[in-house]
Amino acid sequence: MKCVLEKIDELREEIVNFMVKMISIPAVNPAFGGEGEKKRAEFLEKKLREICDEVKRYDAVDENGLTRPNLVGIIFGENKNRTLWIIGHMDTVPEGDISLWNYPPYEPVVKEGKIYGRGTVDNGQAIVASYFAAKAMLMCGVRPKINLGLVFVSDEEAGSKYGLHYLMDKDLFMKDDLVVVPDAGNEDGSFIEIAEKSAVWLKITTHGKQAHASMPHMGINAHRIGMRFALEVDEYLHRTYSAKNKLFNPPESTFEITKKEKNVDNINTIPGTDVFYFDFRVLPEYDLDRIIEDIKNIAERIGKESGAKIDIQIVQKSVAPPPTPENSEIVVKLKNALKTLRGIDARVGGIGGGTVAAAFRRIGIPAVVWATIDEVEHQPNEFCRIENIIKDAKVFAYLALN
Ligand SMILES: [Zn+2]
Repeated sequence: MKCVLEKIDELREEIVNFMVKMISIPAVNPAFGGEGEKKRAEFLEKKLREICDEVKRYDAVDENGLTRPNLVGIIFGENKNRTLWIIGHMDTVPEGDISLWNYPPYEPVVKEGKIYGRGTVDNGQAIVASYFAAKAMLMCGVRPKINLGLVFVSDEEAGSKYGLHYLMDKDLFMKDDLVVVPDAGNEDGSFIEIAEKSAVWLKITTHGKQAHASMPHMGINAHRIGMRFALEVDEYLHRTYSAKNKLFNPPESTFEITKKEKNVDNINTIPGTDVFYFDFRVLPEYDLDRIIEDIKNIAERIGKESGAKIDIQIVQKSVAPPPTPENSEIVVKLKNALKTLRGIDARVGGIGGGTVAAAFRRIGIPAVVWATIDEVEHQPNEFCRIENIIKDAKVFAYLALN
């Protein structure tokens, strides 16, 4: 263990060079107009072959015929029947407005202990830290207790269809395995994410009848009815689904009225159509379909009373899997690692967003989301701290060796 931890420190320069080289090969997700992960994957595949006992590549082909590679590198453990998986994603979001960058997004600049570039923290750090954990073990001549699996996937930023989800039926992941997804976290690494809320986005279209504003009896005001519906749903959901779960921040389900589409151009017209949206983040103990059913009933009643027609369209819906138990092996191990290596008492919790950990939880494999990061994902001047790569690499090595 001591040799491995020291080796990771010694490899600092190589770690920086690896990150710089990798980020210099853009891998913007094609869903956002990028060239995809293929070239970056070729670089990483070569690197994996230098240190792994076995490297497999799973190429998905997307709807535009582009190859979307997924890499799986295994370092055999003393026990080969189980695997500790560390999942990193190769794809990135685009650089966005280039004028907001002080550094070129794909020619990484190293400055004051930070590496600047698109994809350095999201999710380059996961790839580099897990890679050097494995490399340091190899250099020290030690094997992990169980297999160590490094998984570098495509397409995470656009829903993982050609990435992790493509790998889920390849007989790689077993019930007994341990999974770490280093794709969210906080600045000191004290937060371990074990749960996610369910989420649904709804588009609400109210069809009334347009009329002159001075002649309301000739029309049906879709805007008024839409507002009434929104507020009634808002009040009903908060009252009916009010449970709290301390795991989450905030501890309750959230039901928000969000986007509003424009209706008429002039003030003296009664709108015949009204469109707005809901964003709900729901505690896993509630059934999303039941909530949607409740809303449909309210829509029907208000429609009948007002003469309007209220349509409900599901824009996006994801049902949260059961949380990773707080006392599961991977949570306990990670807590121990953080206590031993950093003196940190980590806390577990849930978030309102979604990660690939959900796919593992869904099939009963306990997964944690954890990393030591500044929350600069998707922003201009994205950076990662060299110190954090090194510190996280040590945690991964500790997990593999204990
Ligand atoms: Zn990410």
